[in-house]
Amino acid sequence: MNFTKPPGVEDIFPDRIDLWNFIIKTAKEVFTQYNFKEVVLPVMEFTEVFARGIGDETDIVSKEMFTFEDRGGRSLTLRPEGTASLVRAFCENGNYNRLSSSKFFYCGPMFRAEKPQRGRLRQFNQFGVEFFGDDSPFNDFEIISAMDTVTKRLGITDYKLLINSIGLDTERSAYIDELKKYYAAHQDDLCDNCKRRFETNPLRLLDCKEAQCGKLKEDVPRITSFLGEESRSHYSELKALLESAGIDYTEDHLLVRGLDYYSKTTFEFTTTELGGQNTFAAGGRYNNLVELFSGKPKPAVGFAAGIERLYLMLEDKYRPESSLDIFIIHTGSEAQKKALLTAYELRKNGISVDYDPTGGSFKAQMKKLNRERCHFMLILSEDEILGNYATLRNAETREEVKIQFDTMIESIKDILQLNNKK
Ligand code: ATP
Ligand code: MG
Repeated sequence: MNFTKPPGVEDIFPDRIDLWNFIIKTAKEVFTQYNFKEVVLPVMEFTEVFARGIGDETDIVSKEMFTFEDRGGRSLTLRPEGTASLVRAFCENGNYNRLSSSKFFYCGPMFRAEKPQRGRLRQFNQFGVEFFGDDSPFNDFEIISAMDTVTKRLGITDYKLLINSIGLDTERSAYIDELKKYYAAHQDDLCDNCKRRFETNPLRLLDCKEAQCGKLKEDVPRITSFLGEESRSHYSELKALLESAGIDYTEDHLLVRGLDYYSKTTFEFTTTELGGQNTFAAGGRYNNLVELFSGKPKPAVGFAAGIERLYLMLEDKYRPESSLDIFIIHTGSEAQKKALLTAYELRKNGISVDYDPTGGSFKAQMKKLNRERCHFMLILSEDEILGNYATLRNAETREEVKIQFDTMIESIKDILQLNNKK
């Protein structure tokens, strides 16, 4: 019998939930300000959606998918990413009523059969944005600036935005020929994975994180010199927009991304804080994917961010506000009942309250209050019960006021408001 969780999946327990929710809430707020509309999509699709949408030769499709047969013998896959699903849904829902542009965001679990490590799970969570519309660099700017705003609003300062352009299909295939020529002379020095990539998907050679392959990248031909006029001006315009908005970026000619469907812009948000798993958001332009699914062309641009990686970057810095306004401390059986009924009255009036139902010593109850990081305690001891009042104490300044029960709600509301707690 095994009652433990499988490798690479996590429980998000209450001690982690505040920061978890803060990350998601912040992203949703920013996306809503940009008028991206939320969609909730299935966690499984026909395998074909990903195999064709992401590309057979990618790491995801070739070795990371959780694929199984359903009872009717159909091949299904737990979604490893959101873009292919969203494109499928966009096409299946009448291209979202055929508006000239459509802006979406999503948030939820993804599944990849990877070797679990810090920041690399088998079930992980992403939020992401997809902008279906035209080929304009304005749209690239919109989604990059949205992710930049989320990053800043989360309080992350140690990060870099890397950008590149991988051009059009024709430009890229000329580049790949050149890349193959370069690597053909160095085949013996490649890692085993890259020896295979050399045959199946040479662009991926630039993605490799092995040290032996890293050295070879120093003199590798640059894709930027293969870009034609259209790709070049698209890229320049995006860079100019970022500069006008004061968004710092670094150009990285090795940034080709792990998925097949990209064209022109690629970008990543990276940090030095996460060790090996240093990318926390990534995306780019994909102008051919909608056409592949529906036969009708519609350029698009999008990205996805890893919530677990953002969490790891913030966990030492984040000090959440308590969700409680008041913690009631009581001594004696009369006071215990009074605590229960007082909590009921206060909650009915929109104040969040808790108390220790088992009682215990004053000190033990104080410990609970501290764990909840609650700013105010309402004391009900024998003195208070006899005098028919309660004592409200500010846990930090230790200031106290006597509160009469008949005006308790107003008095407490006033004090919370004065202290900006309500
Ligand atoms: P990596 O190079 O780290 O494997 P990727 O290129 O496979 O990343 P994408 O498919 O672009 O990642 O996914 C976007 C984001 O989702 C990543 O930048 C990362 O933050 C997150 N992510 C991807 N795979 C995982 C995973 N297995 N566990 C946790 N987060 C992940
Ligand atoms: Mg990966």
